[in-house]
Amino acid sequence: MGDYAGLGEVGGKRVLVRSDLNVPLDGSRITDDGRIRASVPTIKALADAGARVVVTAHLGRPKGAPEDRYSLAPVAARLGELLGADVAFATDTVGESAKATVDGLADGQVALLENVRFNVGETSKDAAERGAFADQLAALADAFVSDGFGVVHRKQASVYDVAERLPHAMGGLVSTEIDVLRRLTVDPERPYVVVLGGSKVSDKLGVIDNLLGKADKLLIGGGMVFTFLAAQGHEVGKSLLEDDQLDVCRAYLQRAEESGVQILLPGDVVVDTAFPSGDTTPDPRVVPADQIPADALGLDIGPASGADFAAALADARTVFWNGPMGVFEVPQFSDGTRAVAQALTQVTAAGGLTVVGGGDSASAVRALGFADEAFGHISTGGGASLEYLEGKELPGITVLES
Ligand code: ATP
Repeated sequence: MGDYAGLGEVGGKRVLVRSDLNVPLDGSRITDDGRIRASVPTIKALADAGARVVVTAHLGRPKGAPEDRYSLAPVAARLGELLGADVAFATDTVGESAKATVDGLADGQVALLENVRFNVGETSKDAAERGAFADQLAALADAFVSDGFGVVHRKQASVYDVAERLPHAMGGLVSTEIDVLRRLTVDPERPYVVVLGGSKVSDKLGVIDNLLGKADKLLIGGGMVFTFLAAQGHEVGKSLLEDDQLDVCRAYLQRAEESGVQILLPGDVVVDTAFPSGDTTPDPRVVPADQIPADALGLDIGPASGADFAAALADARTVFWNGPMGVFEVPQFSDGTRAVAQALTQVTAAGGLTVVGGGDSASAVRALGFADEAFGHISTGGGASLEYLEGKELPGITVLES
């Protein structure tokens, strides 16, 4: 029996925990269980304190109704293995199964509710609809612990509204994530280098605005590269391109020059004539970044750029990295991501702080064989960490402070 994070005695109480268990699946096989592992300490601490732990989480992007492929059942099994205890699984989120499952819990036992996004109220933009669903969730518990860092930037029922309805506390994972991100924004040790890549280009361009005033160097790889190259007037063929962001990129390049921040773009890229399918790709080749053929698309930074990026990271004392440098899932386009990951491990070994943020970035470093310990911190939330670094308010955090 005991207290958790200032909630008071949780022994014998039903504690609803919002975790982020959104793992990549191949059918029902979990291909990277990093987010489940990261969620275990909070769940275990509550169970050890005698709470009846009711975990709620989402998987994928169902549209407010049940879909077999997004069932959390495989996650319940894996969570049980990692906890070393049975996890009771409710086949709905707030219905008969959920009520019976929660009622059946003894002190110290854990249940997982079915995918919270099977309910239309979870992500509704209508506060009343969200609130009605949050009422149902809150009825299953006596207290709420917010531990899903990957979703704290979302104003959703299980993240935001439920915290308004129950005594609440910040979970250990969210608190660790926020502490690390704070170290990146408040007086980071210099040089401070940020590496950005991945495919959600417009989502990520916003963070550059804020970083230009904070970081010493910005290395750009992945799908982001081509909007910058096009902004400089280069042909980018069929590469990922956000036409409406060209002026934004030009303004960033200009501001970087004026403020002495170095924006490093790749000098060479690996291209092909078509997006790879499975592990096969028709004709991969390296070309200078300003000579991408009109019938080709860029799929990785080139080998010279991998070496340049590694050199730019060599003396860094603080690094934040979000987004793979290329289509790392395909071996022919994974070298750029590997080069950056390798360079980060050296910064960690030299005592610098390295933070890898983002679901795909975390999966990428694991898929390429790097150990989690080779990095200072692997964040479970890409969008949330970027929004924090952009200086935006995170509704799931604000609500805990009110
Ligand atoms: P999350 O947002 O889930 O936390 P993340 O921020 O780590 O993930 P994303 O922006 O989702 O990363 O990008 C990852 C994807 O980007 C990978 O699937 C990778 O294949 C893809 N990608 C990288 N480079 C390119 C490129 N040049 N063209 C197209 N896709 C690319």
